[in-house]
Amino acid sequence: MAKINLNRQPMPKQPLESRKNNFDEVALGYTPEQALEEASRCLQCPKPPCVAGCPVGIDIPDFIKALREHDMPEATHILKRKNSLPGICGRVCPQESQCEKSCVLAKKGAPVAIGRLERYVADWERSHPELVRKQGAHIDHHGKKIAIVGSGPAGLSCSAQLAQMGYEVTIFEALHSAGGVLTYGIPSFRLPKDIVQGEIDYVKSLGVEIQLDQVIGKISTVDDILKNGYAAVFLAPGAGAPMFLNIPGENLNGIYSANEFLTRINLMKAYLFPEYDTPIKTGNRVAVIGGGNVAMDAARCAVRLGAEKVYIIYRRSRTEMPARQEERENAEEEGVIFTLLTNPKRFIGDDRGKLTAIELYKMKLGEHDDTGRRRPITIPESEFTIDIDTAIVALGTKPNPLIPSSTTDLDLTRWGSVKTDAATGRTSKDSVWCGGDMATGAATVISAMGAGKIAATSIDSYLKNTG
Ligand code: FAD
Ligand code: SF4
Ligand code: SF4
Repeated sequence: MAKINLNRQPMPKQPLESRKNNFDEVALGYTPEQALEEASRCLQCPKPPCVAGCPVGIDIPDFIKALREHDMPEATHILKRKNSLPGICGRVCPQESQCEKSCVLAKKGAPVAIGRLERYVADWERSHPELVRKQGAHIDHHGKKIAIVGSGPAGLSCSAQLAQMGYEVTIFEALHSAGGVLTYGIPSFRLPKDIVQGEIDYVKSLGVEIQLDQVIGKISTVDDILKNGYAAVFLAPGAGAPMFLNIPGENLNGIYSANEFLTRINLMKAYLFPEYDTPIKTGNRVAVIGGGNVAMDAARCAVRLGAEKVYIIYRRSRTEMPARQEERENAEEEGVIFTLLTNPKRFIGDDRGKLTAIELYKMKLGEHDDTGRRRPITIPESEFTIDIDTAIVALGTKPNPLIPSSTTDLDLTRWGSVKTDAATGRTSKDSVWCGGDMATGAATVISAMGAGKIAATSIDSYLKNTG
């Protein structure tokens, strides 16, 4: 039996003092020695539980074995067989609650760093394009056209899979850049944009066409697409409509939705104003409301834009925070102040309508609610204020109603997401599938990719059976 090694390799990081002033990637990636050392910890389980923990079913022990044997083209090939975006997933997947949670070494507190190894292989591929083996694409030319709405992870993974099956695939994307949240949401210090572009280029190299600036529901509808000769449509427009607190003062100047704040920074490069056109004003004292990855990203952007004090306002405790542990630690290292068990009562402004403070309630935790987390309870007469000049509301997002309202026969849930059959991604409308955040509400990159793959398989078998 293989010897158990619980010494998980740490991720090298950009030094703290420099990283607080730039948008370059914080995690630097394993050295070749670290990658081999970490790969050697894998026990090569005959029935590997880690694979079931990955929503796209990567053959994890196989790619790690190839890496161990220095056969990097084979390691790349194994990854790409199941995952068209490994450089992205290796960086942003919540591995601790997916593949690594299921690793047998997780019980001993030191799962194999599967995501970091995946990133290492994907980065090797980027720097050795001449050595990469082509995937077995274009099994059959069916002469059938398929439309995908949205170029985020769900749309990209569905289109890659369908193109490899031999379909003619066109993605219609509303914005002037492809990639969805990967491009306009997650900041470059976590996910560099050249990595995203490289993986989008790979999907295009499989034959997928991406048409930008195409807002479906405005310039044409899903019904128009079906009339124009597309045999099936996969809806993957995400869930981009921000949610707000609905408390007094929320219209004051200086309050952003996290969506707007991060889009200005990522897509429009507001931090390079005036070199780029879009400005962004971040003051000296910033409150970010929320405890998820989006809140951590917004807070860490505010640090990089020069704010002196950045607060995270979260109504539960650290244990219930949905943000990835790694990102919480990075935020705290960078000086973000966690104001836990607090909940906004109102925003306060001056007579010119400018935000000056936030009033908060103190909270305590009660019984577990139906999310499995302990319910936050307001402590009466516990109000206190913090002086701030900027607030960023990062409470989550919901589906945009544009596509549902412009498409006939599409059933919705009471939350406004599209109703689908979880096993196939099929909707109530003939020839239309849906997946990703539009079907589930805001979730993760890898769950959106998994949904894209499931829909591709279902579309393929439907089209084969209908001739
Ligand atoms: P999206 O990525 O939202 O893509 C949808 C695409 O459809 C967009 O490009 C949009 O412009 C386009 N579109 C919308 N409407 C139309 C229309 N009418 N016509 C044409 N195109 C349209 N997940 C993780 O796993 N790890 C993380 O660390 C993480 N961090 C995150 C940080 C932030 C700031 C945010 C916002 C999310 C984060 N997530 C993270 C969540 C993850 O990014 C999403 O769950 C995932 O991107 C959803 O994929 P999707 O393809 O369904 O939608
Ligand atoms: Fe793990 Fe994500 Fe890679 Fe799957 S894609 S093996 S869940 S890091
Ligand atoms: Fe390797 Fe862990 Fe998967 Fe076993 S469960 S094959 S140790 S990564």
